[in-house]
Amino acid sequence: MPTSPESISRLREFFGYAAPLESEAPEEAEEQLNLFLREAYHDVEAPLESLRRFYKVKKALHRARLENFTRRVFWSLRRWRARRLVRSGELQQPDPHRPAWPVDDTLEQLKLQMLERVIGDRESIEILWFWPDGKRWVLVLTHDVESARGLERIHRLMEVEERYGFRSSFNLVPFKYEVPEALVQEIRGRGFEVGIHGYNHDGLLFMDEAEFARRLPAIREVAQRWNARGFRSPSTLRRIGWLERLPVEWDSSCFDTDPFEPQPGGVLSWFPYRLGPLVELPITLPQDHLVFRLLGHRDLHLWQSKARKIREAFGMVLLNVHPDPGYMADDDLLPLYEAFLAWMKDFGDELWNPRPLDLARWWNHRLDLLRKSVQDKRFHTPWGTALQRRVRVTQVGEKRKLEVLP
Ligand SMILES: [Zn+2]
Repeated sequence: MPTSPESISRLREFFGYAAPLESEAPEEAEEQLNLFLREAYHDVEAPLESLRRFYKVKKALHRARLENFTRRVFWSLRRWRARRLVRSGELQQPDPHRPAWPVDDTLEQLKLQMLERVIGDRESIEILWFWPDGKRWVLVLTHDVESARGLERIHRLMEVEERYGFRSSFNLVPFKYEVPEALVQEIRGRGFEVGIHGYNHDGLLFMDEAEFARRLPAIREVAQRWNARGFRSPSTLRRIGWLERLPVEWDSSCFDTDPFEPQPGGVLSWFPYRLGPLVELPITLPQDHLVFRLLGHRDLHLWQSKARKIREAFGMVLLNVHPDPGYMADDDLLPLYEAFLAWMKDFGDELWNPRPLDLARWWNHRLDLLRKSVQDKRFHTPWGTALQRRVRVTQVGEKRKLEVLP
């Protein structure tokens, strides 16, 4: 258990209790939490070998101009597979090597169980609250822009978000389509963020180390040119250890649970957390193409019911929605996106909508406050005031719950 003033344990990172309470945390807490947060409970890298072959074949088909045909076949297969998986009911069965879907609260419950040990015989404890100004929960909106046609349609998403006073990040691919400098300026000028979505979206960035190392300097150069401080890997392909080497401040290539992605699994967290020098911001709602294209939903119940659960846990809703043809900015789905934003907006003042970079910097700032063990004051930060709150863990049926005392 790291106890030097420089390092903060995982459990304390999440709950922000005072340093002297650290000795009450279960000894195995660090290891158990990292098992999920670093996705070490299953062989997350196992699918990469067959995916490497898949992406090479895809490249060859692209050269042979057979891509459109194979894309249709590929999406039909994915649709069939996704619907079959949902119908089978398998995704709700407990399995130590695979998270449940769409909700798996194993990690959140484990954290509360550990916090209960820290609280011990005390009635309640003070914690440095998760979010500034005592906000209850967080909404982070992100957009991966897959193609030049997607780039032409980012205004559709910007306009609808501006209508509700929300902001988001647009994650652009540096070496696939041309990104006009003026557009980067416009995105930022309107209060949105620009992030980096891989290298050229060929699926090969995380396949072999030499290639990854070869591409890193170019990614670093683009990050500087765009003043981009965040990253999402294409198709959420990932090696957790390599993400830490990216020249950015936040990464969002992980998700809490998703059995439908090419590399299934999940980190299970509904909160940001440190990943080496970065802050990891996992995607916590199912993605647009899965919900509305593969599974064919035409209402918001999946997103809303999960968002309610995350709200109960004071967590972070992080959504990835694409502007490209075939996704959420299409005429048939855009009204649903707007309805979701309107629904979130109705939560009013209790909801915080930071851009990913603001959230990552807030999280680091909060960690600094914890390092200084300055719990018993209010701290003004660029994002709002860091407050402390008195909490305890209560049992509701089979579940533990964090209760905030007045
Ligand atoms: Zn992508």
